[in-house]
Amino acid sequence: MKKLELLYEGKAKKVYATDDPGYVILEYKDDATAFNGLKRGTIVGKGVVNNKISNHLFQLLERHGIPTHYVQELSDRETLVKRVEIIPVEVIVRNRAAGSLSKRLGLPEGTRLKSVVLEYCYKNDELGDPMVNEHHIYAMELATEEEMSRIADMSFKVNQILLNYLRDLNIELIDFKLEFGRFNGQVILADEISPDTCRFWDTRTGEKLDKDRFRRDLGDVEEAYQEILHRLMDRSAE
Ligand code: UDP
Repeated sequence: MKKLELLYEGKAKKVYATDDPGYVILEYKDDATAFNGLKRGTIVGKGVVNNKISNHLFQLLERHGIPTHYVQELSDRETLVKRVEIIPVEVIVRNRAAGSLSKRLGLPEGTRLKSVVLEYCYKNDELGDPMVNEHHIYAMELATEEEMSRIADMSFKVNQILLNYLRDLNIELIDFKLEFGRFNGQVILADEISPDTCRFWDTRTGEKLDKDRFRRDLGDVEEAYQEILHRLMDRSAE
């Protein structure tokens, strides 16, 4: 598959066309942003690490019956994926309170939630990805009721699969963000799953192993991303 023109450049990835209109190539960058782009920086090696982490987790999800855009890892930073039409709704899945939820509801960070919380945000950088509910989504025709039902169902399943898998690696999945796309009339999981898009806490020490180290200037950012990759790779070598 040939890598052709740059189609789109996002905050963490570039998307390239290929000679097959059904596929695109993702290229992961080391650039890091937080607080809607107000904080910018570089996490050296992040692109390579996130490419591998995300591909590992997408393959795990595929094995558990979740349809995803993943096709093949092409290099350290590049992955071939199905070309989807991204549904402009970000799904946030929460097992414990953290980040914006802690702030909004006054729940101390780490508070266990009695049931899994799903939140939706309208994917729009200029507006800062505002939170929306299903009524907004239908009123703005961002997705259909049928699509949202599939999205909610898949999001809960992804959470269960990842929770179980990561628990064995002494990683607690606090919360994460998913994006979905339309492909041949079907809704499939797209974008990435990495320390940029998840909160991962070490089960034993409570140490943060994710982008909060960058957001909150906690230091050892690169090390935390590497640690997640190593735990996943050690498990797959067994
Ligand atoms: N998240 C993300 N992209 C976003 C917003 C959130 O990947 O644009 C992830 C974030 O890494 C965390 C979860 O979604 O794992 C919940 O984020 P939250 O709403 O608490 O926002 P934050 O505190 O990160 O601003």
